[in-house]
Amino acid sequence: MSRDAELLALLEAERERQVDFLQRFARIDTANPPGDTRQAADLFRAFLDKEGIAHRTEAPKADNPNIIAGFEGGKGPGRHLVLNGHLDVFPVGDRAAWQRDPRSGDIADGRLHGRGTVDMKCGTTALLFAFACLHRLREELSGRVTLTVVSDEETGGKWGTAWLLENCASEVTGECVLNSEPSGLATVRFGEKCMLWLRFTIAVKGGHSAYPHTGGSANKVAAALIQDLLAIEKMVPDEPGTVRTTLDRPEVRAAAELSLGAGAAEVMRRVSVNVGTIQGGVKINMLPPQCVLEVDFRLPVGISRAAVLARVAEIAARHPGTRFEELLPGGPEANVSDPTHEMMGHLLRRAGALAGALLASPPQPIVSLGGTDTRFWRAKGVPAFVYGCSPAGMGGVDESVSLAEFHHVMKVHALAAWDYLTSARS
Ligand SMILES: [Zn+2]
Repeated sequence: MSRDAELLALLEAERERQVDFLQRFARIDTANPPGDTRQAADLFRAFLDKEGIAHRTEAPKADNPNIIAGFEGGKGPGRHLVLNGHLDVFPVGDRAAWQRDPRSGDIADGRLHGRGTVDMKCGTTALLFAFACLHRLREELSGRVTLTVVSDEETGGKWGTAWLLENCASEVTGECVLNSEPSGLATVRFGEKCMLWLRFTIAVKGGHSAYPHTGGSANKVAAALIQDLLAIEKMVPDEPGTVRTTLDRPEVRAAAELSLGAGAAEVMRRVSVNVGTIQGGVKINMLPPQCVLEVDFRLPVGISRAAVLARVAEIAARHPGTRFEELLPGGPEANVSDPTHEMMGHLLRRAGALAGALLASPPQPIVSLGGTDTRFWRAKGVPAFVYGCSPAGMGGVDESVSLAEFHHVMKVHALAAWDYLTSARS
């Protein structure tokens, strides 16, 4: 048996243990807010202890522990691969709307139920088992593998991944990162769009609506402002060459649409503008003196926050009484890793070969519409890639994950890591 087949056999032999772990994880409340992940961290630490893998905990906030586990390969120095998943999940929301207890961990029709099973208890568990199997075969590997299991992802990562990269950089930065956030089996994500939130306040004189000539209407200004802001969607991104040629490929566009819905291939590469709230006016027969808009801009790779802010400033200046402020100042830019990086090749090849009936055509590299902790590594120039289960049902009522996808994602990460740590040393 080849050594990578041995790795697969090890994972296959533990299916029951894997499902049992995921079930127990699903039954622990890690909803964020409040984001208390201590009990879940205990579950992970007990597993690592049993496997004899060294680990330690960094908890800048006592109820937000982060686990760092790692080992050296037996074949001497080489590359440093980092695996990253999070413990915290979305809140349950309207409990009455759920058919089952949101922490049931029930298994029915090949799916395991519970809040956070998709995002990302499935993925974090998959990485844990992939990591443990690599550890058992560590004599065959060169370099180093580090597993980071973090808290605080759902509320920005300040006490989780961002904190680790800031305070434990030599341990967790690595040279390449694998993450298993839900992506859908048809795509491997090598970048993500940026989120820019702005609040516009329009203040004018107002007055009585029978006398429109005596004072302006903030709502009327808002209507014109919105039309101008929507034109920002037409900005053309300056994508790096490899990103452009990758995303231009018809099979990549098709995979993006399959994974994210019709229209996604276009949205992935342009600014989207959502006027999320409009609040203006007091009474039907009064000229509104104030209108407040909150607008969510999502920027693609190749358009900077500064470029959009400059366009917005230009537009705002044309509309009387309009000012704006940034709601999340200093947020990350759209970020990207090289889609032709060696790791992308490993992930695509292994995912395609292992998918069987789960996938009709080979997976393709795309840019994510939402954000993950991989952005913190990309900001440091470390290539980072995301491959996980289908995002369908993520954060919704009756969230559940396919166990077939759970096992598939685990194997793909284990084998891609294997390929990376057994190929030519850097
Ligand atoms: Zn997530």
